[in-house]
Amino acid sequence: MENKGIRRTGGPHLVLVPCPLQGHMNPMLHLAKLLHSKGFTITIINTQISSHHHHHPNDLFFYESIDGGLPDASSIDGDVVPFLLELNLKCREPFRDCLARMMVRVDGSRDHVSCIIHDSAMYFSVSVADELEIPRIVLRTSSAATFYGFSLLFKRKGCLPIQEDQMEEALEEFPTLRVKDMPIFKTSYQEAKEEIFATTIHNSTMTASAIIWNSLTCLEQLMFKNIQENHLVPIFPIGPLHKHSKASLTTKPILTKEDHHPCIVWLDTQTPKSVIYVSLGSLVAISENEFIEMGWGLANSDQPILWVVRPGLVHGSNGSNLVDLFPKELNELMSKRACKFTDWAPQEQVLAHPSIGGFLTHNGWNSTIESICEGVPMICWPCFGDQRVNARFVSHFWRVGVQLEDKLEREDIESAIRRLMVDKEGKKIRGRAIQFKEKIGFSLRQGGSSCVFLDNLVDFIKTKSN
Ligand code: UDP
Repeated sequence: MENKGIRRTGGPHLVLVPCPLQGHMNPMLHLAKLLHSKGFTITIINTQISSHHHHHPNDLFFYESIDGGLPDASSIDGDVVPFLLELNLKCREPFRDCLARMMVRVDGSRDHVSCIIHDSAMYFSVSVADELEIPRIVLRTSSAATFYGFSLLFKRKGCLPIQEDQMEEALEEFPTLRVKDMPIFKTSYQEAKEEIFATTIHNSTMTASAIIWNSLTCLEQLMFKNIQENHLVPIFPIGPLHKHSKASLTTKPILTKEDHHPCIVWLDTQTPKSVIYVSLGSLVAISENEFIEMGWGLANSDQPILWVVRPGLVHGSNGSNLVDLFPKELNELMSKRACKFTDWAPQEQVLAHPSIGGFLTHNGWNSTIESICEGVPMICWPCFGDQRVNARFVSHFWRVGVQLEDKLEREDIESAIRRLMVDKEGKKIRGRAIQFKEKIGFSLRQGGSSCVFLDNLVDFIKTKSN
């Protein structure tokens, strides 16, 4: 990417290393905007041809690309572990060379890189930062509870594989979570490899100079307290980053093409708080049978539906028109319902739309926090990794949603939608969701927790730069 016309802020130079998956890239780009607004000069390391869904602001940041045989994220098919292992293996050397190049200018003078901020999944940054003696901060794009869950997992040595008969047991250390809610990835890799992978990510976080969290104290105070008691490095919960970076803007944002996206135009025609928004994020892949069950459950609910059916949502079906998988009777029923399909939705705008009444989600952390920010109650159907922890927090700790258990069946979906949209219970859930929305709003105002932590982070980085 070209580096023309960038406004050098004159402030300390930070190198940001995002992980090239949508749920990781989005928060890192929001963090970049936020730190730029505080006067830092930012270089972003690109490890993948950017997808058209990542809006890289060309005039704010410098970009450096690392390439040469890196794995392609479009081949993931629901299993991120092999992709991330290969990426980490192949990025180390080119990243080292790239940084070394950046640090020596054409005229031979040195460009001081004050700090590397890397996604915890990009752990190849650790040895490079150590070698070049650059301070290193980690960005956690998942919840504090997930990190805590990992700590518990590691404490139970030899915990993998977890025995089937232990799955329903409550965790002694935090009984809201059951053994089966722990952050475990579904991978075709052997479990031993999975454990090495998770441990490496965890260690890269524990050895950093500081940890930035896309979360905030009004959601996870207890978790942060637990983490801080066990780790001596400073932690900065400055989330939700997508809201915080917008709050940092001094001018009102101009309407973008996302504001006129066909989904938004369709939502404008629906009744307030009536639509169920359905999206399983950018990575989850389900079976054909699960997809059809979902279709029946949604159609039978008789609520208006906005459904993100992205290519790759159904295992092995990359690119085809997935709605063709529906049987004739389901297609007929769908055509009688208010049901809008899209292969991608501008999710932040969708969740903020007054017509949205609920969100059927896989509970990726971004989706979870974006929903809570807008006071939208959730129907949780987690699949792997941190999604289980998030879903359990949504349904049993914050109590802003209901959870579908493991097997996806039409009756369960229909009844979850009814619980949320029709029953008394739904009203209470909605009330709590609105309260969180308000609390998050306070955290982002001057003197609010996320604002105070951001100021502390800025001071911390400046001290490290001297
Ligand atoms: N997203 C979006 N439109 C879509 C699907 C996803 O804008 O159609 C965004 C969503 O707002 C979120 C991110 O992609 O910021 C997905 O991250 P999340 O952690 O929820 O799930 P993942 O994709 O990592 O499983």
